Amino acid sequence: MGPSIRVGKIFGIPIEIHFSWVFIFLLMIVILGDLFDQSQSTALGRWAWALLIAVLFFASVLAHELSHSLVAVRKGIPVDGITLFFFGGVSHLAHEARRPYVEFVITVVGPLCSILLAGIFWVLWLQFQGTNSSLELAFRLLMSINLMLGVFNMLPGFPLDGGRVLRSVIWGLSGSYWRATQIAVRAGQVIGGLIALGGGYLAVDNFHAVGISGIWIILIGAFLFSAATATYRQERAKERLKTYRVADVMNEEWWTLPGEMLMNSPLVTQGLAEHDNLLAVSLNGQVEGMITRRLMDRIPRRAWGSTLLSQAMLPLRSLPILTPADTASEAMDQMETGRLSSLAVMRNGELLGFVSRDGIIRLARRRNRNRV
Ligand SMILES: [Zn+2]
Repeated sequence: MGPSIRVGKIFGIPIEIHFSWVFIFLLMIVILGDLFDQSQSTALGRWAWALLIAVLFFASVLAHELSHSLVAVRKGIPVDGITLFFFGGVSHLAHEARRPYVEFVITVVGPLCSILLAGIFWVLWLQFQGTNSSLELAFRLLMSINLMLGVFNMLPGFPLDGGRVLRSVIWGLSGSYWRATQIAVRAGQVIGGLIALGGGYLAVDNFHAVGISGIWIILIGAFLFSAATATYRQERAKERLKTYRVADVMNEEWWTLPGEMLMNSPLVTQGLAEHDNLLAVSLNGQVEGMITRRLMDRIPRRAWGSTLLSQAMLPLRSLPILTPADTASEAMDQMETGRLSSLAVMRNGELLGFVSRDGIIRLARRRNRNRV
C-alpha cells in the first residue's frame, strides 16, 4: 500500500496509519470546523470540536475494522494488521476465508458494529435534542457518520462488505467460490462506476454547491472500481492454479547440506542463491529439514557464526507435506495457512523436490502471458 507508520496494537493487532490518511483527516477537520461555526462562539472551541469528532470518527472506523479482524482471528485466520487510509480502513487477513459461512460472519460484523455505534450515538443525541448545543451536533454527526458507514458498506459489490456478503451467500448456495467471486466483483465494478458517474453528474450540475463532494464521490467510485478489478485479476490467477499440479511447479534440484554446518558457511549462501532461496538439511545422511532465505533473515547475522543448520532448520516432520498430484492452488493454500514460503514434495517417504510461493507466482504470471 505504500508508506505507513505503526501507531500501536489493540488486542495484539498492529494498527497502522497510511500517509494518505493525513489528507482525509485534515479535510474532515476543515469540513467539521465549518459545521460548528454556529454553535461555537470562539474559533478555538470550533476547531477543538472538529478535532474531537474527527478523532472519534476514525475511532469508529477502527472499531469497524477491529470487529472484522477479531472475528477472523477467532475463526483461525491470522491478521497482519489494520491500516487507516484515504478511503477508510482495511484489515489485512493472512488469507481469504475457506468456507462461505466464515466469510459471511467475518464480514457482516463490520457493518453491524457501525450500526450499533450509530444506535449508541442516537441514544446520546436524544438526551440533548433541541438544546442546540455543540454536544447535540457532535452526537448527531457521529450517529449519521456511523450509520452511513454501515449502510454504504453493505452495498452489494466487491470490495465493500456487502459484496463479500453477496459472495458468501452465492458461494454457500452454489458451492462455487469462483462463480460467486465473479458475480460479486462484476457487481462491484457496476456500483463503483455508477458512484463515479453520479459524483461527476453532481459536480457538473452544480459545482458551487457540491464541487468538492462531487470530486470526492468520483474518487470513491474510481477506487471501488479499480479495487474490484484488481480482485478479479488476482482471483482469476488463483483459479488458473487449480489446473496445475505440484509436479508442474516443483523445483527438482536443490542442495543438501549437513546439519552440523554453521549458518555463515559460504556454501549456505551459494546453495540458497542457486536454487530458489531454499536448501535441504540432512542429519545422519537423511534429509530432515529445510532452510529458506526468509528463515535466515529472521536470525540475527551475528548469530550465524554460532548456529548450526540443524538448529535453524524447519523440520520437515513438523510441516505439511505435498504430493506431486496435489494442485498448485492447494499448495498455495497450505503455504498461506502455515505462513510458509516453501514446502517439501514427497512420495512414499521419498523427497522429490520443493515448491515455493515465489515459484508458483512466477509460473502463474508466465502462463498468463502465454495464454493472452
Ligand atoms: Zn468492513
